[in-house]
Amino acid sequence: MTTINRCSFCSIATEDLTSFIYDNKELFICNSCIAGLIKNSNYNTDSAKLFSFNLQKPQEIKTFLDNYVIGQEETKKKLAIAVYNHYKRIQEQLSKKQYNDTEKDIEIEKSNILLIGNTGTGKTYLAKTLAKIINVPFCIADATSLTQAGYVGEDVEMILTRLYQESGENITATERGIVYIDEIDKIGRKGDNPSITRDVSGEGVQQALLKIIEGSKVKISPQGGRKHPEHKMITINTNNILFICGGAFEGIERIIQNRMKKQYLGFTADNNNKYVNKDEVVKNIIPDDLKKFGLIPELIGRLPIISTLDSITKNDLKNILTEPKNSLINQYKRLFSIDHIELSFEEKAIEVIINEAYELQLGARGLRTICEKVLQEYMYNSPSDDTIKNITITSDYVESRLKSQ
Ligand code: ADP
Repeated sequence: MTTINRCSFCSIATEDLTSFIYDNKELFICNSCIAGLIKNSNYNTDSAKLFSFNLQKPQEIKTFLDNYVIGQEETKKKLAIAVYNHYKRIQEQLSKKQYNDTEKDIEIEKSNILLIGNTGTGKTYLAKTLAKIINVPFCIADATSLTQAGYVGEDVEMILTRLYQESGENITATERGIVYIDEIDKIGRKGDNPSITRDVSGEGVQQALLKIIEGSKVKISPQGGRKHPEHKMITINTNNILFICGGAFEGIERIIQNRMKKQYLGFTADNNNKYVNKDEVVKNIIPDDLKKFGLIPELIGRLPIISTLDSITKNDLKNILTEPKNSLINQYKRLFSIDHIELSFEEKAIEVIINEAYELQLGARGLRTICEKVLQEYMYNSPSDDTIKNITITSDYVESRLKSQ
């Protein structure tokens, strides 16, 4: 078996390495780094600096999240702790500290995260904001577009290729990135029993995902696409990549309720028809409920931190629209101000937008769709009209725009 070494400069694992001795040590250099040196450019040092990660304490992380994400207090706290512990673990590895015998035996495992919440409650947004705080590369993958190798669809390894590209092709930064995998609930196997036949859409993808989530060395093609003998492959170690998975888990409240009915006397037949608040029920989730829903136990085991997100209320919608640093209203105001136009919304206009978004049941996602529709004519006409200096959006205007096709 031939061993493949890594380039000592960019850590790429390839057979095209030149070895040389420096300071009594054998070092390796790949062709790209040689080209970089010849061009006298600092190969990869720019992107490496860009992603020199910035570890903050849980309280600081939570405060940062508060600037962007409305509500979801419990989830923000859990995420702040999980992210802090994850990167503290990496920082310790980097410090090359000398351990005593007891410490040597304790290997801190990474803790990936599962977020459960309806669409538009901020799952993706939270993951993305976390990556921004810690200053690590970030990418989003949709579990439903993935497939196990050899089938039509995207190979799971593509996730790592995307993260690698996001990192500015910097392996070290990639290996510390954050990946958000959306719609993890949509790849559940049908039923609780392991299938005998191969299940391309569900279990097979979960198995493939498990391999990268649990931490392993994965060969990827830096340019993407299917593996091809002519492509130069690189190896990514996923041991320190933080995976955050998210999904709505539609109907899981019934599984939880049934279990609780059996467990607790308080849940009698009388309670059957009572109105149940999904948010409250889902807070009682245990790993076994996820198994019943269709996730494989090995994958559940790799997602030890579970947090549930609250549904978005009308009050949340109002806060999301107006409060965060980069609230939608502020974003539109900024867009218009670039054309020297002052945009404002009457209080009642905001109420109409919120009511409409609430009806859509898309969480905060509905807000943008509605704002785009409301502002469409102004965004089209005003850049060409120098006479427009101020625009005030009234409730009548919002209603008329929402009625139009
Ligand atoms: P999910 O992943 O839960 O379906 P997203 O995170 O993609 O939802 O939310 C869509 C958009 O709605 C985000 O980009 C963000 O602008 C806004 N949003 C959602 N939830 C919140 C929240 N709790 N606070 C602030 N903005 C939010």
